[in-house]
Amino acid sequence: MQYVSTRNRQFKCSAAQAIAQGLSPDGGLLTPEVLPRLSPNGLDTMTDMSYQQRAVYVMSSFLDDFTTSEISGFADMAYGPDKFDTKAVAPIHQVDEGTYCLELWHGPTCAFKDMALQMLPHLLSASLVKNAEQKTVCILVATSGDTGKAALEGFRDVNGTRILVFYPRDGVSDIQKLQMQTQEGENVGVCAVVGNFDDAQTGVKRLFSDVDLKDKLAGRGYFFSSANSINWGRILPQIVYYVSAYCDLIRDGNIQKGDPINVCVPTGNFGNILSAYYAKQLGVPIAKLICASNRNNVLTDFIRTGIYDRNRTFYNTMSPSMDILISSNLERMLFEFTDRDDCTVKGYMDALTREGRYEVGEAVKRKLQSNFAAGFCDDKTTQAMIRAMWEEHKYLIDTHTAVAFHVLKEYRAESGDTTPTVVASTASPFKFSDNVLGALGVTELAHGTALLDQLAERTGVSVPAPLAALAGRSVRFTQVTEKEHMVDQVLEMLK
Ligand SMILES: *Cc1c(COP(=O)(O)O)cnc(C)c1O
Repeated sequence: MQYVSTRNRQFKCSAAQAIAQGLSPDGGLLTPEVLPRLSPNGLDTMTDMSYQQRAVYVMSSFLDDFTTSEISGFADMAYGPDKFDTKAVAPIHQVDEGTYCLELWHGPTCAFKDMALQMLPHLLSASLVKNAEQKTVCILVATSGDTGKAALEGFRDVNGTRILVFYPRDGVSDIQKLQMQTQEGENVGVCAVVGNFDDAQTGVKRLFSDVDLKDKLAGRGYFFSSANSINWGRILPQIVYYVSAYCDLIRDGNIQKGDPINVCVPTGNFGNILSAYYAKQLGVPIAKLICASNRNNVLTDFIRTGIYDRNRTFYNTMSPSMDILISSNLERMLFEFTDRDDCTVKGYMDALTREGRYEVGEAVKRKLQSNFAAGFCDDKTTQAMIRAMWEEHKYLIDTHTAVAFHVLKEYRAESGDTTPTVVASTASPFKFSDNVLGALGVTELAHGTALLDQLAERTGVSVPAPLAALAGRSVRFTQVTEKEHMVDQVLEMLK
């Protein structure tokens, strides 16, 4: 199967090239030339399989330049018991009749990014071999919290890779900072940047386009790549858990084969919900994709009006991984809804760069609205949802997941739609202990890792092992840099 650019369908490459490159040279996103479909009994076949086997079954249909035994090896390494704290990998928790929470945070960093970032390094490392790449890849990441740690865990000690993560000194939680500063592995580096996430991100973008640096590092045997969610190697592993969730619902007798389900996804960069759309194209009977946003509700407006407009105030919220005004993966959705009209997609993206705004045509808008519903909520409503979920169902959810549950509740009230729904739960509540405790009415908050114990004591839910272990870990990385001097940090770390 070939991959094409969303901005130029004439540009084609293999899966291994798509994964190694990340982005098309024209700035477009690399996407399968044709979307595969499961065989008619594919879902039946997978119902009795383990998560790892389902991953092999689904991913194989997109990766014909990899053998089944290769993919099988990756799945065992990525989703084994040493990485995930449950055999199910992505288990479903039934909340009430017709509402199912898909827990995507049982991996090593307790956020859903692990589902893709445990797999990507294996795909990437094998792709480099297939492409006969001689140099060592150095992954550069600017993170607002979850991605950096998940990427560090995924790439640690993977052959032929190095990883450097820059996080804003003043922009991550205590727990997130500690998670990164105590990172283990021989091929990892972590550095704080003075400033906010924008400063870190701008700095990393500058490193990527620094020709002088590129030459210097090539001389030392390195080249840069990114583990950003625009990489196809991050979208593909996410398709698996939607297929897997449907198989689990059948296996446990919650639905009959062929019954439609809805999915509701707390959304930022649009990668997770896009994967659900691809699962639908594969043949999973998904009816509505419900896109949940926080106060940064650019996607809600887009889905309701067909106008994407980033010219608005940016808010820092309690669900920081969704604080985004440009949802990069939406480009792949536009590619599908324009019937793969690369010129039109390029036109939208150029307008977004130039004016921060574009409006889609009637036909695209109709497809958008028949596939998607959308809603948003603010921090106060987010906390009220966490509290209600705890009081009514004794089920503890994080701030991102709470946004999704609230939007689902509103959607059901407005539409009367009673289709069984899978809600994607994207982080362990312990990762956002302070705001979760606040939601439960606790006003005197502890600090650092003591917050974890405080939440455990208040609820009787135990702290996930990787977070509990933080208290005993020694800090390895204390470097801080001005954003102008990030290049020196890179040269130092890649000596
Ligand atoms: C990254 C992230 C999201 C947003 O996912 P996208 O794929 O960017 O839409 C939601 N919740 C959490 C906890 C995340 O880490």
